[in-house]
Amino acid sequence: MAIDFEFRKQVMDHHIGSEVIKYCYQCSRCADNCPVTAVTTDFYTTTGYNPRSNILNALLGYKDAIFAADELAIWGCTVCDTCDEVCPQNIELTEVFTFLKNQSIAQGKGPDFIYAQAKAVFDSAKAIPSQPAIERRRQQMGLPAVAAPDVNEVQTLLKNIGADKKLK
Ligand code: SF4
Ligand code: SF4
Repeated sequence: MAIDFEFRKQVMDHHIGSEVIKYCYQCSRCADNCPVTAVTTDFYTTTGYNPRSNILNALLGYKDAIFAADELAIWGCTVCDTCDEVCPQNIELTEVFTFLKNQSIAQGKGPDFIYAQAKAVFDSAKAIPSQPAIERRRQQMGLPAVAAPDVNEVQTLLKNIGADKKLK
């Protein structure tokens, strides 16, 4: 497996408190508590999403092992932050995973569902479209109608960070 030293350095530089990430001792507490690992892992073949493996591959500079794997390897993380809470070394795993996701998008290798959701946010300023059933339920509960977002404002913000150019 080829080591990409530049990639390794980028991971280190990106992580807040870069001294800490080196102290991962592969205890697997992150994976043991990850809800995505719990529902995707086949313990007979050890396939599935695994935050411990991602940290190990990032630390070793095994870039290909991360980006050549299926999209679950990076995008399986739902950013629930459980791993950050339980890591005995106080490693902010989700920061590393955000870096990996951004790299994936920069390479044009993000999964289709991410582009679809990003486009939905760009087009409607909502991650989840309004649904009449939810509006009716809110009315029944005496809640006010959800205010319409300012689509132009959201689009301006996204254009300012170049997000519109990343949409497929
Ligand atoms: S819980 Fe922390 S120290 Fe343990 S394997 Fe995961 S990242 Fe490494
Ligand atoms: S933040 Fe991601 S990797 Fe960590 S426990 Fe949640 S889903 Fe798993």
